[in-house]
Amino acid sequence: MLAAVLHDFDRLVLEDVPVPRPGYGEVVVRIKSTGFCATDYKAIKGIRRNVKFPFIAGHEPAGVVSAIGAGVRHFKEGDEVICQPSGYCGVCPACRAGNSHYCETAFTTGGDGPADVRPGAFAEYMVTAETCLFRKPASLSFDAAALTEPLSGAWKGVIQYSEMKVADDVVVIGVGGIGLLCLMVAKAAGAGRLLAIDPSPYARKNALALGATHALDPNAGDPLAGVAAILPRGPDLVLEAAGHISAVRLMTELRRRGTRWNIFGITTPEKFELEGGLTHFLEGRMDASFGTTPQAMQRAIALMESGLVRTESIISHRFPLKDIHKAMEAMDGPERNKVMIHP
Ligand SMILES: [Zn+2]
Ligand SMILES: [Zn+2]
Repeated sequence: MLAAVLHDFDRLVLEDVPVPRPGYGEVVVRIKSTGFCATDYKAIKGIRRNVKFPFIAGHEPAGVVSAIGAGVRHFKEGDEVICQPSGYCGVCPACRAGNSHYCETAFTTGGDGPADVRPGAFAEYMVTAETCLFRKPASLSFDAAALTEPLSGAWKGVIQYSEMKVADDVVVIGVGGIGLLCLMVAKAAGAGRLLAIDPSPYARKNALALGATHALDPNAGDPLAGVAAILPRGPDLVLEAAGHISAVRLMTELRRRGTRWNIFGITTPEKFELEGGLTHFLEGRMDASFGTTPQAMQRAIALMESGLVRTESIISHRFPLKDIHKAMEAMDGPERNKVMIHP
């Protein structure tokens, strides 16, 4: 089968590799579509260094079951499925507490986080555990379904952890792919004023088209004054989905009493400071959110199936796997939103 194999940073090679075989409780999925995540990009470029070679990235796949291993009970060949990239045991204390993304023996297919990293979806076929599969609703395209994992992360951050409530005034800092998904979840959940902050005119235009009530360029004047002009009492919830420490700092400045924040986008080790007393008296509530859970995946599928969130609306580019290097160029480009790979 064709696969995009990363042999070293910046050395992504298209090659012919054997089709994987399923072990006990595993399935092989013929990948139809997979999202190109910033995490994949950072691995390929060497911006994140926790990569062991050779590595097949790609952790946002949907496809069709092509083979099942012994012990597989719930899926059969030909089933259209969505794959959760994080595998879990279901038995350890973290799993039993409902936090399968903290699983003591977690693995990922093509992703980041646990020590056990298995080949991902930048390939024609991928093997994963049956417990990582969800049924793709027939009404959803493979492209839409492939975005279940990032949408599930957005739901988990905005609704489950930060407990957004109807009519909350919400600020999203950074409206690339994941920021737009957070914005669409907030819109579907009944946000009051919904303010997108992003230096890119392209991103701001997308945010306004997808439900933001206001969009602000943080480099045009003082962003705090800009937000205050729109939300004089300050936001109820601020989501950082930019991945840059300056966005986290802006988030900490944008608080009033009882504001909730979510550190959602940043995955790098820079530091930021908080004043203890002020944080105490403001009752600032800080959440963070990474990865996904089966519960969040299920919610994301429900959001898409009901039409509340249309993930296809954030797709800007689609490439066959053989053009993955062109996809990398698109990831580098200024005017791109979600890039999809069709293996
Ligand atoms: Zn991702
Ligand atoms: Zn576990």
